[in-house]
Amino acid sequence: MDCIFCKIGKGEISSDVVYEDADVKVFKDIHPKAPLHLLVVPKVHIQSIAHLEADHNDIIAKLIYAAKRVAEKIGLKGYKLVFNVGREGGQVVDHLHLHLLGGWEKPAE
Ligand code: AMP
Ligand code: ZN
Repeated sequence: MDCIFCKIGKGEISSDVVYEDADVKVFKDIHPKAPLHLLVVPKVHIQSIAHLEADHNDIIAKLIYAAKRVAEKIGLKGYKLVFNVGREGGQVVDHLHLHLLGGWEKPAE
């Protein structure tokens, strides 16, 4: 399958990796929309949140936990976790990914 995030997951396309385990890869977004913008991506291909099945519960928990661990390690006090879902939701890459956005100096108002 010609999926860019599957290829990044397998290491066939390079990325700026900040965390990796058997199920999840976390790398820097090439077009950051925040001072720190990471993508938390499952190695298994799931198109989007709209394509989740009941047996994907584990992988969703792993994505969120990986985001939490990375944020903690970097020392982020606060951050946003975002799933864009479908074109109308701003999703352009059809492989599930969690945006981790942070690094602003001031607390959000
Ligand atoms: P979304 O709009 O939720 O589908 O987000 C896709 C994100 O992937 C965008 O923020 C892109 O900048 C990012 N992106 C696309 N290709 C790459 C890549 N090769 N390496 C890192 N980030 C990418
Ligand atoms: Zn994929």
